[in-house]
Amino acid sequence: MDFKKEKTLVLIKPDGIQRGLIGEIIHRYERTGLKLIGLKLVLPTEELVEHHYLVDPDWKIKSGQKSIDAYLAKGLTPPSSEPEKMGELILEKLKKYLTSGPVIAMVWQGMNAVGVIRKITGATEPLTSDVGTIRGDLTIDSYEIADVDRRSVRNLIHASSSIIDAEKEINLWFKPEELINYRLVGESILYDVNLDGILE
Ligand code: ATP
Ligand code: MG
Repeated sequence: MDFKKEKTLVLIKPDGIQRGLIGEIIHRYERTGLKLIGLKLVLPTEELVEHHYLVDPDWKIKSGQKSIDAYLAKGLTPPSSEPEKMGELILEKLKKYLTSGPVIAMVWQGMNAVGVIRKITGATEPLTSDVGTIRGDLTIDSYEIADVDRRSVRNLIHASSSIIDAEKEINLWFKPEELINYRLVGESILYDVNLDGILE
């Protein structure tokens, strides 16, 4: 694979749209130097949401375990100690959350796209995501309060967690002809081996 062409899928979830954060979020990703090669407004179906999360067969267990660990790290008791069961509950809530209104689906491309986008997005739980990240700066939710209210953690964004997941997710959300191959003039300074030609 051409490392300059690594792709990742980003969704701005319904809370991001309702909060008027589309521009702010895109601005943060755009400043990295990555290239936007696909963009659309979508009203997802529950079926699409389910396919989306289950592109990774281990997602239920991983996601369930992560929230169990978050409870334990705060000295709290998780609602269930079985990761798979936790994952199933999370998926049901996600279906409601992501079908509640339009989302923005985007594909970003470039060197280290998956890792760079995840770094800027921040960790899953806004209460503990780092300052400077989208989730850390622009919203306020936590696992506990989401669980008390029996709803999804509202954290503005989905970003693919690996190159393999990204490929599968992009295929779900975009047709090949919706992704555009083009050159950004600013890419030379990021990728060219020789910087000859800058000085006159
Ligand atoms: P990562 O970026 O590490 O993949 P993620 O944000 O995609 O994290 P997942 O664990 O894949 O998180 O979960 C998907 C989404 O489900 C989260 O973004 C969040 O909206 C919601 N979610 C996760 N865990 C919980 C939970 N314990 N309770 C409610 N909603 C949850
Ligand atoms: Mg995830």
